[in-house]
Formats: sequence, C-alpha cells, structure tokens
Amino acid sequence: MGLPLLRMTFDWREMEHKASQFITARMEEIGKRIGAEHVHAEARTGRYTIVPYQSTHNTGGATMGTDPGTSAINKYLQSWDVPNVFVIGANAFPQNAGYNPTDTVGALTYWALDAIKNRYLKRPGALA
Ligand SMILES: Cc1cc2nc3c(=O)[nH]c(=O)nc-3n(C[C@H](O)[C@H](O)[C@H](O)COP(=O)(O)OP(=O)(O)OC[C@H]3O[C@@H](n4cnc5c(N)ncnc54)[C@H](O)[C@@H]3O)c2cc1C
Repeated sequence: MGLPLLRMTFDWREMEHKASQFITARMEEIGKRIGAEHVHAEARTGRYTIVPYQSTHNTGGATMGTDPGTSAINKYLQSWDVPNVFVIGANAFPQNAGYNPTDTVGALTYWALDAIKNRYLKRPGALA
C-alpha cells in the first residue's frame, strides 16, 4: 500500500543472559527438590533465536500505566497525548506475563471497547 512500516530488531544483552542464568538456577533447584529423576538446566546464551524456541511474545511497544511520564497509554489503552487514539494490542503490556499473551490482548480489547462505547463516545476526552 506504500505505507511506511517500522522494522525493529533486537538481541539478548547482558541483562537477559543474567536473568536467564538466575531463573534457570532456581528452576533447577525446584526440579531437584521435588525429586525429579532427570534435571536438565541450560541457561540461554548467545543471540536471540526462535530455533530453539525462546519466545515469540515480544510485547510492550507502547505500554499502559498510571503515569504519562513513564507510559504511553492509560489503562483504557488511550494515548496520554492524543485522546482520540486508542492503541490496542500486546504493545500495552508493561511486563510480560509467564503465559501466552493473546487471551489478555483479547480481554484488554473488550475492556477498551467498553470504555470507548460507554464513556468516550458520550463525553470525548481523556478517560484517566
Ligand atoms: C510464531 C509465533 C507463535 C505464537 N504463538 C502464540 C500462541 O500460541 N499463543 C499466544 O497467545 N500467542 C502467541 N504468539 C504471540 C501473539 O501472536 C502476539 O502476542 C499477538 O499477536 C500480539 O498481538 P498485537 O495485536 O499486539 O500485534 P500483532 O498481531 O503483531 O498486530 C499488529 C498489526 O499491526 C500491523 N501494522 C504494523 N505496522 C503498521 C502500520 N504502520 N500501519 C498499519 N498497520 C501496521 C501489522 O501488520 C499487524 O497486523 C505467537 C507469535 C508468533 C510470532
């Protein structure tokens, strides 16, 4: 369509490697404490890849929050700066949950649509 599309790439850095080492060691402890026969613990190293699978749940491009200084959208997924813009998607997650994101994206969508229909359209403006 000729519209510009942002392409963003990223890779693991020291912080992600350290987080993986820390959580892998905790999981190894848990595995041993519950008496697992085989415990194979391998922290992530090297570059980001989905082969082997490391996650495709990359979220938080325009996060929700309570403070316009540290977030892009409010809890209704409404832009702090431009009240007639609602940004719906996994972009809203300030942190990633330990589980698959799509159900939460769906729930947030219903939540935002309810606010648009029952609050914003009746009185356009900032909802928070
Ligand atoms: C291989 C893979 C497997 C996955 N498996 C699961 C799973 O089993 N369960 C689960 O819960 N989640 C899974 N996910 C994650 C899930 O797909 C995403 O978290 C979810 O799709 C995010 O939804 P979103 O609406 O935020 O973003 P997206 O689904 O990425 O939607 C963003 C949309 O914006 C469009 N867009 C971007 N830029 C522009 C522009 N400039 N103008 C117009 N349109 C634009 C894109 O084309 C796209 O349609 C998987 C992801 C991948 C990649």
